[in-house]
Amino acid sequence: IPINTLLICGGGGSEHEVSLRTADFIQHRLAVVPDIALTRVEMDANGRLTGSDGEIYQLHQDRQLYREDGTTQPVHYVIPSIHGYPGETGDLQSQLGLFGIPYYGCGPEASKICFNKITTKLWLSALGVDNTPYQFLCSSEAEETAKATMALQEWGQVFVKASNQGSSVGCYKVSSTEELERALDEAFRYSPYVLVEKCLRVRELEVAVYPYDGELVITPPGEVCPPEDAFYSYEEKYNDASRAVTHVEAQGLSDAQRGWIREASCRAFIGLQLKDLSRIDFFLTEEGDIYLNEVNTFPGMTSISMFPKMMENAGHDFSHYLSSLIHKAMKTNDQ
Ligand code: ADP
Ligand code: MG
Ligand code: MG
Repeated sequence: IPINTLLICGGGGSEHEVSLRTADFIQHRLAVVPDIALTRVEMDANGRLTGSDGEIYQLHQDRQLYREDGTTQPVHYVIPSIHGYPGETGDLQSQLGLFGIPYYGCGPEASKICFNKITTKLWLSALGVDNTPYQFLCSSEAEETAKATMALQEWGQVFVKASNQGSSVGCYKVSSTEELERALDEAFRYSPYVLVEKCLRVRELEVAVYPYDGELVITPPGEVCPPEDAFYSYEEKYNDASRAVTHVEAQGLSDAQRGWIREASCRAFIGLQLKDLSRIDFFLTEEGDIYLNEVNTFPGMTSISMFPKMMENAGHDFSHYLSSLIHKAMKTNDQ
């Protein structure tokens, strides 16, 4: 019998559209797997699920997917293809855990920790992994924002980041006090917590980390090169006219640098108890220092995204990878 797999895409966050494109990729790659029957539903901002047939669906505790007309189908496995809330944030995974339905990707706790930029940093520090210098603002009150002004004075240029966003949403590069004020206003609209980070002149390196045929793979670092004076913004990430150049393998890294990245990635993946996939991003400074920037528990998988490209470059087949994970979850669930 086929494994009824529910692909949930969209979600209520600012990355709804990107989530649909990631779902397209996954759907396409699973189409070649004979014993997986995929049903795709799109979640709106209120958590409502709409099928490709335009019908409203509901997933219930009895692990059945209900159609509005009362018909049902069992759900054996779920793929939460949602960047941001409520997928990448772990909320949906909590519910699936309660229902006892196995799913693709990290559990609720790891997702929550990694989605929030401040908890990520605290965990990375606890794991002994260097990350970018920052100030933490827990409110937009004047005494908190004074810390941002001081950070700007000290570092000259800073990044203001909403703590709970991805895809460069709520993320601003700031060089003056006027810009700072505007950026803080914006960032606090997205999140009650804001980070002010030292702006580093860097190369941006990333690795894909995932299990393949029973072994944990850390790909060679790839590189994204945002256009001059800009940063890797939402447009550069997802616009087909993106000016960002990407290299599936970064050139000119020393063995020590590669080793450092591998070691830090491994420590982060295991220490944070990640599962199935992640894309871990690093900054390499002109002085040769490396900082871990962020851990993405559900990285983009659009046609120009790095995660699938790096996996493919490592000689691994996405269809085989995902179908193996699904089959493995079915076996574990049977016992
Ligand atoms: P997101 O989760 O939204 O991707 P990031 O922390 O990765 O947030 O920031 C988005 C982009 O902003 C990065 O890819 C990089 O181009 C730039 N950036 C972020 N922080 C810094 C920093 N401290 N120094 C230099 N560039 C940065
Ligand atoms: Mg991110
Ligand atoms: Mg990023």
